[in-house]
Amino acid sequence: MPPLRALPALAAVLTVAVLAPGASAEVVPVDPGAKLSAGKQIVGSGQNLPSMQAEGVYLVGPGPIAQVNAYYSSGAAARDQRQVAGVALRWTKRWLLETCGGTTPSTVRACKAAAVFDMDDTLVSWFPILSSNDPALSIDSSRSNEAMATCAAPVIDGTRRLYRSLLALGVTPIIITGRESSHREETERCLDSLGMSEWQSVIMREPGDARSAASFKSQARKALERKGWRIGPSVGDQISDMAFGHLGHGFLIPNPMYFIP
Ligand SMILES: [Mg+2]
Repeated sequence: MPPLRALPALAAVLTVAVLAPGASAEVVPVDPGAKLSAGKQIVGSGQNLPSMQAEGVYLVGPGPIAQVNAYYSSGAAARDQRQVAGVALRWTKRWLLETCGGTTPSTVRACKAAAVFDMDDTLVSWFPILSSNDPALSIDSSRSNEAMATCAAPVIDGTRRLYRSLLALGVTPIIITGRESSHREETERCLDSLGMSEWQSVIMREPGDARSAASFKSQARKALERKGWRIGPSVGDQISDMAFGHLGHGFLIPNPMYFIP
């Protein structure tokens, strides 16, 4: 068995999820924290994962592997991804009307409307890589680094369609990823090669950044707002992609493989 070590870019605790049969996209109100006066809503499928801190262990466990495999191989994951992406597109069109006064590209660009995307398990899928690790759905750092270097994680078509649809509307995509900046060149090249280009920036973690993903990502969004960007949707596979405000709405892509606080 290879050593189970934390993948630096995905400093996560893998945990167990049981998917509700026939789960569908729904609105899930969440508490965004005491610093905000009003809650933000998150749209996602009904599969909230508990945070199970298990020091040094990054493994979904043998029990649910069959369920996770079935979720992805049956097409259910792709269906849910498309569904959340569809809801995000409809919501963003309404938001553009309210925020920018129209949905023509010139109006939207002048308004500095932006959409934030996470990368891993939002725009590209790690299931084929993690499921082929030994043990399955564990994280092996060297394999993960190799996969990032070679852009081996396949694109998630539903969110790529959302990315392109928003771009066509004049919305500026901005990537905020937990990957470290040492992976910048390969990450940017990978996005372009998968047909997701014209992003305004790819915001990455610097080495030694000990903040939680939720803190790092919310502070990155806050900095974008200070530069004048109006952030509508924030699309990710973790609550930490959309926690602590500085966004219009969070859209949660189902991920039963791991949890990132
Ligand atoms: Mg992710």
